[in-house]
Amino acid sequence: MNLDDARQKILEAVDSNFDAQLATTMDFVAIPSTRGAEGPCQDMIGDLLRRRGYEVDDWHIDPNDLKDLRGFGPIEHDFSKARTVVGTYRPTREAGRSLILQGHCDVVPAGPLAMWESPPFSPVVRHGRMCGRGACDMKSGTIAALYALDAIKHAGLKPTARIHFQSVIEEESTGLGALSTLQRGYRADACFIPEPTSGKMVRSQVGVIWFRLKVRGHPVHVFEAGSGSNAITAAYHLIHALQKLEVEWNDRARSDRHFKTLVHPINFNPGIIKGGDWASSVPAWCDVDCRIAILPGWSSPTVKMKFSPAFRRPRAITTFYPTTRPRCSGPVFCRKAMS
Ligand SMILES: [Zn+2]
Repeated sequence: MNLDDARQKILEAVDSNFDAQLATTMDFVAIPSTRGAEGPCQDMIGDLLRRRGYEVDDWHIDPNDLKDLRGFGPIEHDFSKARTVVGTYRPTREAGRSLILQGHCDVVPAGPLAMWESPPFSPVVRHGRMCGRGACDMKSGTIAALYALDAIKHAGLKPTARIHFQSVIEEESTGLGALSTLQRGYRADACFIPEPTSGKMVRSQVGVIWFRLKVRGHPVHVFEAGSGSNAITAAYHLIHALQKLEVEWNDRARSDRHFKTLVHPINFNPGIIKGGDWASSVPAWCDVDCRIAILPGWSSPTVKMKFSPAFRRPRAITTFYPTTRPRCSGPVFCRKAMS
């Protein structure tokens, strides 16, 4: 079979299985696999792989096995049910180059339900698009990769090298699922991650640092607020300082060979804010969970050092600044940038 014929047969196989692919995607999206609740997704992938004859490796992730590896991020939630599932295809005689196909099944929280047009875990197809939490990021990609392998088989072709189909968790946070596959020994000549990023092939990706600002103020009754120190107001100034750091880092990104054409590759996000105990008390505390991106080659210790000047600035500009210096603390981790 020449290349054009093979291509045509694969495309026909994709088309003839597309309804089944769509149904499987819907079942997968319907599983509310937020952080810590990915088990049923991993069960489903394990079943899909076994039914297709892959050799399935399904294991519990023990953070102790990973804690000394580069790229490890600390875990604060119950990890007793955390698993990785890998299905392996082995040709009878190995030739050519091996491949890893990797998808993550964890999804971020759905947010306010009232803002959804349809329930987040009851996927529907509207105007040619599937709507549901995780449909785009990235359950449709994972199932598409599985059905792409099916299409190759149905076209009467057989890959001539090893393929590892991997379903991981923790992609939206520490990346420990992907790290666990490396610790387990999985390697290949290439890895393809079918995340739908504007429909483009992406060869370089930002890393992520999560950190928590812990601001402590001086609590007094509101009638003498001027003698206290308001932790929430101080946190506001720290956020502002970090936004300025974000501008500086985006300027720096203009000299990066992969990111120089992008308008705003470094994004800082204060994602969760908690603080204070009473509307009439000057708040003694404020914690802000934040995320900022880094580019390949930026090491996390260097980046953390760069936070310090940002934290010093508010002292000069506000009398509300707390008596104790804010701390930047855990969970702090860095998901490595790649290129
Ligand atoms: Zn994703």
